Amino acid sequence: ASKYEKQNIEKLSILFASMAHEIKNPLGVIKGIIQLITRENSNYDWEAFKIIFSEVERIEKIIQDLLDYSNPQLVNLDSFSVIDLINEATGSLLPVVKEKSLLILKEYDTTIPQIFGDRESLYKAIFNIIKNSIEASYVGGKIDIRVRIVVDIKYKEKDKDYNYLLIEVEDSGEGVKEEDIQKLFTPFFTTKPKGTGLGLVYSQKVVMEHKGFMRVKSEYKKGTKVSIYLPMRDSL
Ligand code: ADP
Ligand code: MG
Repeated sequence: ASKYEKQNIEKLSILFASMAHEIKNPLGVIKGIIQLITRENSNYDWEAFKIIFSEVERIEKIIQDLLDYSNPQLVNLDSFSVIDLINEATGSLLPVVKEKSLLILKEYDTTIPQIFGDRESLYKAIFNIIKNSIEASYVGGKIDIRVRIVVDIKYKEKDKDYNYLLIEVEDSGEGVKEEDIQKLFTPFFTTKPKGTGLGLVYSQKVVMEHKGFMRVKSEYKKGTKVSIYLPMRDSL
């Protein structure tokens, strides 16, 4: 096998191992509780069932994210506006935005051309990034979403310069601890009690399939800026 194939196999084994682990943990908890409450004379209480319920929910969530995020392929290629995607995402996140009294400020270049790609996958990627910012924000916080065209950024795999559409999502929320920054794109890395740690991995995969790239800047307790660069070409 080539060096590349070996690396891929290695990555897959790590992924499978962490998947197994993530699902085995809640199953172990459920099994333990069932053992306790099925013991003779056990005076089980409803708390036990509540724990079982929330562990089942956790497994369901992991499986749902794995399904949503598995194999993002560029199947339905189309031209569309990322502004529409952003508006749809913030629209469906409005209930949480209101609940936390957040302010979302949008700032776009006047002429943003459409881009070519898989609308559905990019929507999910952008949705997750905005959702992360909302979740990291403190009550009453502000999130800036900017879209602009940047030129002459050298994409390391190509010799050519391209124009990129840059989407920035910047919050002034919890931020990421310095030691965690490099873990952000690792499957199952999450700091949230109900998180799965699959969103950013998925987003990055989709962006890379569009020949783009992502950058994250963050300061613990101060805020985070996620930048998505998408090349402006009419083919992929
Ligand atoms: P999840 O949202 O399920 O935790 P993600 O892959 O979307 O999974 O994010 C992984 C982790 O990265 C989060 O748990 C959080 O610790 C960190 N993170 C992502 N976005 C932000 C953000 N805007 N601010 C602070 N931390 C973030
Ligand atoms: Mg997320």
